[in-house]
Amino acid sequence: MPIFTPGRRWQPPFRPFRHVSPGGRLLATVERWIKGPLFGCRMCGNCLLQETAFICPMECSKGARNGPCGGSTEQCYVDPTRPCIWYAIYQRAERMGRTEKLLEVLPPLDWDKVGTETWGDVWAQVRRVGTRKVFSGLLSRDVARRTQVWDSVFRPVRQPTWWEGDAVYHPPKYTEPASELERRLRAGEFVVTAEVAPPLSTKTDKLQSNIDSLRNYVTAVNFTDNASATPRVSSWACSILAQRRSVEPTLQITARDHTRLSVQSDVLGASTLGIRNVLCLTGDSPRVGVTPMGRLDVVDLDSIQMLWILRRMRDEGKYLDGREIKTPPRYFLGAAAAPMASEARFQAIREHKKVNAGAQFFQTNVVYDADALDTWLNELAKRDILGKVYILIGIMPIRSFKMAQRLTEVPGIQVPETILKRMEAAGDHAEEEGITIALELIERIKRKQAVHGIHLMSVGWESIYPRIVTEAGLVRPAAQVEEATKTPATVNR
Ligand code: SF4
Repeated sequence: MPIFTPGRRWQPPFRPFRHVSPGGRLLATVERWIKGPLFGCRMCGNCLLQETAFICPMECSKGARNGPCGGSTEQCYVDPTRPCIWYAIYQRAERMGRTEKLLEVLPPLDWDKVGTETWGDVWAQVRRVGTRKVFSGLLSRDVARRTQVWDSVFRPVRQPTWWEGDAVYHPPKYTEPASELERRLRAGEFVVTAEVAPPLSTKTDKLQSNIDSLRNYVTAVNFTDNASATPRVSSWACSILAQRRSVEPTLQITARDHTRLSVQSDVLGASTLGIRNVLCLTGDSPRVGVTPMGRLDVVDLDSIQMLWILRRMRDEGKYLDGREIKTPPRYFLGAAAAPMASEARFQAIREHKKVNAGAQFFQTNVVYDADALDTWLNELAKRDILGKVYILIGIMPIRSFKMAQRLTEVPGIQVPETILKRMEAAGDHAEEEGITIALELIERIKRKQAVHGIHLMSVGWESIYPRIVTEAGLVRPAAQVEEATKTPATVNR
């Protein structure tokens, strides 16, 4: 990657959706001509180049403004003809010694500014601070003074008062656990959660029997939110069904399908109905989903921004617009983590930022390599975040050699050669071999101190979960299950 970013383009240039004065238009044109070729600028009007190693993140196919997605490698998995722009940002930040700058939680777009220039804002801020002070500060030999003056100009431009993102950990401001999942994690138990795919139609018999079959085996059940960008029954509806059947749900919310408005109203509604676990995801690109594809270039939020908004709603009692929430919502906030995507040290930066933004637990992508998992955990340890987040490792039993081969093509998943060979050699007994492999992995994961549980996933094989939990020795005593299911399902606060 050269010093300057050539004008690679994925998303179309943004255009203002309002009247702009001729002077503003001229300035915007000049800015586009200069910043486009130099930094790959997309004219989002909300410039944050100083925090992203001077590469415009708006080139990300998912419009992520706070770090790579869970499928990131050197190439973008959404558009494999292009490099992953976040991988490039992390690489350059590392070379420039600006890695820690990547931790600041950056705001979603102020769409009122999209397509307009940012130089006008910078100049206005220079005048506010004092032109002479800024220029003498920037020319100073004192690095601390230079940094302080630089920040006094650029920070207010990229961090408006309605956002005020930072790079600091904010411990939750409540004492009683919000959910049974949180209660058990706090108690130091090794927990099991499981993912259930919502049905593709309104026929819910299988969903209900899956929920019932898990009651005595897992602490909470996740319901995916239009996984693979394919419409299904909503995570919301499934969560309510689970509650009615005395099973604790985890509501998954993908930023892809939400705006900042709908996400705030949804979590208030969820909290009102007693849904206490919320998993924030960016979501698969519509490009990997069903066709015809919807808009690919309009993204209101990413998962880190969602965490930031929801944490502040709960702990500071504030809507995004700053209005007070008289009775704030209660929830236990989770996020996805991707131990096997790109480089472990890069992923650790992203997980660190999620913890700072508000993630209290991680449910990771599927892991098949316990040694590689150690590398990722070591990177988290270096960042001192292991004591601040609970970690549940994703486990998915493989049913066939073909499935194992397909998994090697999924972004963010690595299947070691030894597992591929075992699955191939198993022939007609592939399912049994897949279960044995899953149990061996769980056994190794159970011994890792930094790990607090497992998160079971499957592609339509939810019926296998009880057997895995039983054979892994993770079934809870009946008395505990009975006590947990007494929790009132639909009460407010
Ligand atoms: S791989 Fe993910 S983070 Fe990287 S450019 Fe593509 S969508 Fe964005």
